[in-house]
Amino acid sequence: MIPFNKPYLTGKEIVYIEDAVKKGKISGNGYYTQRCHDFFEKKYGFNKCLLTTSCTDALEMAAILINIKEGDEVIMPSFTFVSTANAFVLRGAKIVFADSRSDHPGMDEEKLEALITAKTKAIVPVHYAGVACDMDKIMSLAHQYNLFVIEDAAQAIDSFYTGKDGIRKPLGSIGHLAAFSFHETKNIISGEGGMLVINDKSFAQRAEIIWEKGTNRSAFFRGEVDKYSWVDIGSSFLPSEIVAAFLWAQLENIEDIQKVRISHWEKYYNELQDWALKNEITLPVVPSYATNNGHMFYLVCKSIEQRQAIIDKLKSKDILAVFHYISLHSSVFNKTNNIIPELNQSDKYSDCLLRLPFFYELNIREIIEAL
Ligand SMILES: *Cc1c(COP(=O)(O)O)cnc(C)c1O
Repeated sequence: MIPFNKPYLTGKEIVYIEDAVKKGKISGNGYYTQRCHDFFEKKYGFNKCLLTTSCTDALEMAAILINIKEGDEVIMPSFTFVSTANAFVLRGAKIVFADSRSDHPGMDEEKLEALITAKTKAIVPVHYAGVACDMDKIMSLAHQYNLFVIEDAAQAIDSFYTGKDGIRKPLGSIGHLAAFSFHETKNIISGEGGMLVINDKSFAQRAEIIWEKGTNRSAFFRGEVDKYSWVDIGSSFLPSEIVAAFLWAQLENIEDIQKVRISHWEKYYNELQDWALKNEITLPVVPSYATNNGHMFYLVCKSIEQRQAIIDKLKSKDILAVFHYISLHSSVFNKTNNIIPELNQSDKYSDCLLRLPFFYELNIREIIEAL
């Protein structure tokens, strides 16, 4: 049986977890949390990072930070995970769904401006499959209409965007805020886990407070205040040191993990060219401004029937391929709460996108031969 995903362990996870336990402090914001923060801030130049217990939590923090209130509108792609929307819905926002691009499941930047109203507060681009949205276009709209941009970078670790200025920027470093995931299905994992990136410095202090249950505990630990107390709303968004220690073992090996995953992706891409052409299947498109971070390998089939036939064929050979999101605009929840827009491209990806097995220890040959 070849699963769709298999979490990869570097071997050091248990060693660091044991060390964290021996250090005698296993709640959050300790030695390993700090190491992880430093790593990300140095490697990718993120202004400030806060580990969270999930990307969902990081998105919820973002919604609190930008003060989402009842009736505010937030624009995001329909073809995304529920958390992208839920985080803002929890604070009373109305979600305005954007269609996907015809060449890529990411949202169509050209169709965004028409969705902006006086109530729009933020745009949430999702870098699907780790492939960048065209951030120059999104940031310039945000600037023009005074909106916040929160990157859902759950799948986008170690991926980049090169805009008009020719500078290669890491995804997660461009919006005011960004959220990453370390769920076991992502490139770098800690079981459940995530991170909020704060690029707009004006959010830095409040982010720490929200992270620590609405208290100024972080400032207290740094000796900046002589006691800590309740100063704002917040929750327990920080992971324990056990999770951070696991994550550190992964981060130490990020170069190797990325090299292997990208080489898997390229093997799929190169070896499936003829097969795809013959079967009228579209292989993933990576626009020239984006990079591929080896997060996922997907096919866009010509019909839902063709997709089912491929799933069945692989299943008969004990290989698990899976489709992805039911577009949120056509979800049960949205149907009871919203008018349903017509989003043809989102529907296309809901019906026709198929993800092939993708993980570090995968033998690609076996899948290619089975197709
Ligand atoms: C995985 C994922 C999430 C949620 O991440 P969690 O860490 O499981 O909360 C959110 N958005 C996208 C696009 C994802 O792929």
